[in-house]
Amino acid sequence: MPDVAVVGSGPNGLAAAVVMARAGLKVQVYEAAAEIGGGTRTSQVIEADHWHDVCSAVHPMALASPFFKAFELPRRIELALPKVQFGSPLDRGRSALAYRSLDRTADELGRDGHAYRRLMAPLVRHLDGIVETTSDQLLRIPAHPFSAAILGLRTLEQGSPLWNLRFRGDLAPALVSGVAAHAVARLPSLAAAGAGLLLNALAHADGWPIPVGGSAAIAAAMAEDIRAHGGEIHTGVTVSSLAELQPAKAVLLDVAPPALSRLAGSRLPASYRRALESFRFGNGACKVDFILSGPVPWAAPGLADAGTVHVGGTRAETAQAEHDVAVGRHPERPYLLVSQPSPFDSSRAPGGRQILWSYCHVPAGSTVDMGEAVINQLERFAPGFRDVVLKYKVTTAAELAAYNENYVGGDFSAGLLDIRGLLQRPVVSPVPWRTPARGVYLCSSSTPPGPGVTGMPGFHAAKYALKDIFGLDVPALGV
Ligand SMILES: Cc1cc2nc3c(=O)[nH]c(=O)nc-3n(C[C@H](O)[C@H](O)[C@H](O)COP(=O)(O)OP(=O)(O)OC[C@H]3O[C@@H](n4cnc5c(N)ncnc54)[C@H](O)[C@@H]3O)c2cc1C
Repeated sequence: MPDVAVVGSGPNGLAAAVVMARAGLKVQVYEAAAEIGGGTRTSQVIEADHWHDVCSAVHPMALASPFFKAFELPRRIELALPKVQFGSPLDRGRSALAYRSLDRTADELGRDGHAYRRLMAPLVRHLDGIVETTSDQLLRIPAHPFSAAILGLRTLEQGSPLWNLRFRGDLAPALVSGVAAHAVARLPSLAAAGAGLLLNALAHADGWPIPVGGSAAIAAAMAEDIRAHGGEIHTGVTVSSLAELQPAKAVLLDVAPPALSRLAGSRLPASYRRALESFRFGNGACKVDFILSGPVPWAAPGLADAGTVHVGGTRAETAQAEHDVAVGRHPERPYLLVSQPSPFDSSRAPGGRQILWSYCHVPAGSTVDMGEAVINQLERFAPGFRDVVLKYKVTTAAELAAYNENYVGGDFSAGLLDIRGLLQRPVVSPVPWRTPARGVYLCSSSTPPGPGVTGMPGFHAAKYALKDIFGLDVPALGV
């Protein structure tokens, strides 16, 4: 007789299961796919012995998220830290590079170095308070109001038409926008600026690590802990109704809001179900995975040492590409997120070969193959790129949606990232993880604090389930 059923083994389902199992409860996890992990799977998607991260690849929150800190993730898996955390190439062989050292980063940004340092230094100084505030739901009175105000003021600036006021050149703006554009939103916008500044500051603190062996290492560490505490994980099991999970006293669902409505049916009030069914999703991604014969021939030398490269050109060009997506067009020169794990993790490909992970943003539900557009953008900043490509595989937004039911229309954020989408996740509520059906909790990234491999939506849902149903506190989670 399980005490707890968890549906979905993405990082949030697994985080919820870790907390519940550690509390001494009998936990069963059900995963529709053949493998655990959701957005943290690493697979041989093109050829044997070449390991590609299917979804997430780079993990700024692996060291910073309160859940992973408590779980002591770095004591369980190896996290590689690149020399350069991220970079943005510009034409004529130039680039802006972000190091863990804020001073070095600023010193290399030329005439905007001082402006960049003034933008980032207070964020880095108050990062713990900022992470704590943004790891919870935003409707709460922040535990660290001063830190929240520092982020808030900079978000207002970088999320508004004033975003260029402090800069004179093109390097620093390209560096900052490269991170803000992760949000799949118009630029400038408040939600993109806030998320981007947080991620940007994390690079100057603990960095943006890449798990050795791929993102699957994170899921494996959580699964091992669940099993060590008596939990069981069943793969290849699609749950289609909560009735299948009886007699579990608590059910935690790592699913998208419309799926919660479908699974719970009449156990939820009609108005709540309507809200779930009309939940707003954002645009999608088209993923392009490469096997290369050697390193990417970046024109700017420092980029060879970068874990992540934001390929979009200038701030204005990135904003244009994101604007195109926002109005339903496929950009001719898309903004790309590129991760190159091979220089830091030789286990990904044999014989001097490298793997390269990339995606660009596309309108929701897109079936367009962006392979050529992605290669052209890479060729622009790495002439000769085409010659090192041995094989590549495109996954369209529609295919991403089919791969994981949570990514509706290919929206890997599992919900639109604008201010309303951050506050109404999935509904406006002081405890959005708790549903009106007793014992039923939503724990996916469609709840606060939102997307990314943080474990925090799962942690929050488990915290309330423990308290409401079992009268228990969160247990110790460390090694
Ligand atoms: C291309 C791409 C790149 C990304 N890059 C990064 C990155 O570099 N860094 C980062 O931090 N984040 C990244 N992300 C985002 C990150 O992967 C997600 O935010 C995260 O995985 C969300 O976790 P989750 O547990 O909420 O859901 P998911 O990881 O989506 O997991 C949900 C799981 O639930 C299962 N499920 C759903 N319904 C049912 C059901 N009815 N029965 C049984 N099982 C079910 C699904 O099969 C899935 O395994 C990326 C995502 C994508 C797609």
